[in-house]
Amino acid sequence: MTRLLLVEDDAALVRTLSISLEARGFEVEATGQGNRATALARAHPPEVAIIDLGLPDTDGINVVRALRTWSDLPILILSAREAQEEKVAALDAGADDYVTKPFGMDELLARLRAALRRTTPEPAPAVVRAGQLTIDVATRRVERAGGTVHLTPTEWNLLEVLVRATGALVTHRDLLQAVWGPQYADETNYLRVYMAQLRRKLEEHPSAPRHLITEPGVGYRFEP
Ligand code: CA
Repeated sequence: MTRLLLVEDDAALVRTLSISLEARGFEVEATGQGNRATALARAHPPEVAIIDLGLPDTDGINVVRALRTWSDLPILILSAREAQEEKVAALDAGADDYVTKPFGMDELLARLRAALRRTTPEPAPAVVRAGQLTIDVATRRVERAGGTVHLTPTEWNLLEVLVRATGALVTHRDLLQAVWGPQYADETNYLRVYMAQLRRKLEEHPSAPRHLITEPGVGYRFEP
């Protein structure tokens, strides 16, 4: 059982999530009060947390901040579609990823698995297969539909960071720092240019990508 702290004030959603999560091996402790959440987490440290941003007594971002002062656990936030700035603020405060309401259970579980992989990493697979793509991380070779794709070193570095985090959100800042270096953390235009190049080389329909997914205003993720 994986201990999960659920901080959400919508009682119907808590019921639905608890049933689904418990059926998949999570032990769920739920509260609708942000201020209660930190005390609960201290009493029974969870292995992963799901935190709604809109809580009655405090902002979910404050709960993220409070947990991050003493815990490195994976944190997933739930947010409304229009709350773009809130999402960015929550990620800056230390959340790992977000799910936008309304969401499907499959999406939530995929994000949870990706977030949990960060703290309990499995050995990265040497070869990643995604649709028509075969990406050999060890030898830095990419094939699409059986044909070799030539990537520049920068394109490869960008792809590698995303593939190593398959399914997980990688923020603009983290990508820029990993590929270009700390002094480039704000150069999001680099990402737009190189992501467009990668999509032209790797995606069947570059304007409707299946694998190299944009999270608007936040970052990118690689979906297998
Ligand atoms: Ca709420």
